[in-house]
Amino acid sequence: MAQTDEPNKIPVGVSSCLLGEHVRYDGGHRHDTYIAKTLGRYFKFTSFCPEVNIGLGIPREPIKLVNEDRKKRCVGTINTDQDHTEPLIQCADQQAHWHKDICGYIFKKGSPSCGIEKVEVFRGDQVTYDGTGIYAARLMEKFPHLPIADEARLGNTHQSSNFIQRVFIYHRWQTLLANELCWETLTTFHKQHEQILISHNEQLTGQLSLLLKQSGESDLKLFQEVYIDKMTAILKIIPPRENNTDTLAAKN
Ligand code: SF4
Repeated sequence: MAQTDEPNKIPVGVSSCLLGEHVRYDGGHRHDTYIAKTLGRYFKFTSFCPEVNIGLGIPREPIKLVNEDRKKRCVGTINTDQDHTEPLIQCADQQAHWHKDICGYIFKKGSPSCGIEKVEVFRGDQVTYDGTGIYAARLMEKFPHLPIADEARLGNTHQSSNFIQRVFIYHRWQTLLANELCWETLTTFHKQHEQILISHNEQLTGQLSLLLKQSGESDLKLFQEVYIDKMTAILKIIPPRENNTDTLAAKN
């Protein structure tokens, strides 16, 4: 794990190979200038390679996802009896101590460890593209509200803008929780972000505003989970272009 020391930037996780680290199976990398240079102006990256972390070494035998007996596993491409599934799951669990502090994660697309969607899965002679990398899947399961993207999504202007916006808002949410949440601060947070939420979906935002208004007497701890669930679902909706609200600003 490598981390840059930039206290004013937002902490974001990233697949090491995307920052140019020579960690791929063949000793290469997949440096992405947009991620490293452009997003690097706003984000403090923690880079991590799960395959190196579980001791597969560099260079190493490539690994792949297989689907046998309706069970997805991650095995060696040559030594198919070497099963890396459980070590990759445990790897994600062991990194939770820094996963809980980040406000987004950028993964390498297509990887059997890091891919977030459409990863190759082998079933006998057949190949489907419906897999998720084992490490990424576990992390997404444990942190369902964490904004995630891969370099393919970031190549699309709308998706990139949506990811950046969600990272900034999630950072404000994490800051709110760290400063002892109360009904008043939650209501202020909602008001500050209401226009942004409306730009994603007016109807769902209206329902959330009403829910917040009516929930003043309920358990705040329980309600904060409902709120972040619903807010995340709204923010995931890519807004029509004409509704695009300033990505980095909240209404004060
Ligand atoms: S995709 Fe993930 S596992 Fe593969 S080299 Fe990059 S960081 Fe390592």
